[in-house]
Amino acid sequence: MKDKIHPKYYEAKVRCNCGNEFVAGSTKEEITVEVCSKCHPFYTGSQKLLLEAGGRVEKFKKKYNM
Ligand SMILES: [Zn+2]
Repeated sequence: MKDKIHPKYYEAKVRCNCGNEFVAGSTKEEITVEVCSKCHPFYTGSQKLLLEAGGRVEKFKKKYNM
């Protein structure tokens, strides 16, 4: 939480290894990722997908002590 020096915030173009492209807020202009919400069901940025996974989430939580 640094108020004085604020990094520039871009609408970054995110490019995934699977070929999917989307826009996300970031301090970088361009990002390359190995997995995205389309090719990885447990993509950390998507709580909706986690909810859709249903019972599997409980196992996931236990595994990571959440
Ligand atoms: Zn992907």
